[in-house]
Amino acid sequence: MEKRQFGWTRREVAAIGQGTWYDHGSDRAQAIDALRRGLDAGMTHIDTAEMYLSGVAEKWVGEAIAGRRDDVFLVSKVLPENASRKKTIVACEKSLARLATDRLDCYLLHWRGRHPLAETLAAFEQLVREGKILSWGVSNFDVDDLEETWAIDGAGRPACNQVLYHLEERAIEHAVIPWCERREVAVVAYSPFGHGQFPDPRTAGGRLLEQIASGYGATPRQVALRFLLRRASTFAIPKASTLTHVVENAGAGDFQLSETDAAGIDAAFPLGPRPRSLPML
Ligand code: NAP
Repeated sequence: MEKRQFGWTRREVAAIGQGTWYDHGSDRAQAIDALRRGLDAGMTHIDTAEMYLSGVAEKWVGEAIAGRRDDVFLVSKVLPENASRKKTIVACEKSLARLATDRLDCYLLHWRGRHPLAETLAAFEQLVREGKILSWGVSNFDVDDLEETWAIDGAGRPACNQVLYHLEERAIEHAVIPWCERREVAVVAYSPFGHGQFPDPRTAGGRLLEQIASGYGATPRQVALRFLLRRASTFAIPKASTLTHVVENAGAGDFQLSETDAAGIDAAFPLGPRPRSLPML
């Protein structure tokens, strides 16, 4: 599995990680097995959140990483309603308890809410000083939010911005990715398969993905992941609870698309105009 530098932190992190936003019908044993299989295959970047299954996803992640915590780059997120100066600390401590660990590698604000950003960031910096988190980041932040974050005195720097990014939703390419690259902030692509809405093989775009994939002995989804990873600043965190899906996703870890193939995908799934606000799920 390819590793790349996680923004300014310089940590070497798996380019393809594992999401954990399970639906309510998810099965514990299956989810844990899938995460472990993903770790075996090098997808050691795990993304979770207090929101997912109301904390249950964090417990499953804790079980999956038991005995191999040091191999994992572990990310969780605080809900905006909990992101006050005091409640952020409490939320993080609860996440750590559910994850059965003493630290997170990165802790994110899930999206902007009513609490002043300066308060949340002051809490994040306290958590860094206490060694409970090694870095902090943001999620669903457009450029104006990022600028505001950057301008807050004494708040340090976000390590990443986790944003919606897949073949049919490339809005972050207009301004968010360039902004993050200038400041060495990692860009983490969530819902890289469109949250289950992957291009159908009967469409022109789907057929192109199949054709390109066959040239690499790869699959359309592997090609899609490689397209999202074509810039060194980006990471992707597909969620898979099916073992064959896990193995397939990890298989995208080690090949590069040619410039011609990337240009073909760019034309088939066009960027489109810049939306007024950043799309999110
Ligand atoms: P996704 O990864 O785009 O898609 C997940 C769906 O794709 C699942 O139904 C999964 O099925 C299926 N899948 C995965 N690999 C596959 C493969 N190789 N072949 C066929 N189907 C495959 O959607 P997502 O869960 O929304 O996004 C990924 C992660 O990003 C989340 O889990 C979460 O950690 C994070 N996220 C963050 C935010 C945020 O606001 N920060 C928002 C959304 C998501 P199976 O489960 O059956 O394998």
